Amino acid sequence: MSITVNRVYDEQCCVCGARGCERHHILPRGAFPQYIKSEWNIVPLCRHHHNLAHHRAHGRWFKMKLAERLPQEIQELHKDYLSNI
Ligand SMILES: [Zn+2]
Ligand SMILES: [Zn+2]
Repeated sequence: MSITVNRVYDEQCCVCGARGCERHHILPRGAFPQYIKSEWNIVPLCRHHHNLAHHRAHGRWFKMKLAERLPQEIQELHKDYLSNI
């Protein structure tokens, strides 16, 4: 598992508010390169919550939680993605 990120020091984690965050792509860059630059697909997360978002087993509920911010039509896409990983 590799997490490649740009660190953004002035952003706060969207979960706990910690500063010095990493940018997480809700729909992963590898599987959805067309959404790499979509604002709705990028969330600031601290290291702890970012690790959680990438955790295969425990991260599932968290991925669902993050997906609530996706546009309605994209949420379906995200569900399909989750059921296939
Ligand atoms: Zn956090
Ligand atoms: Zn990430």
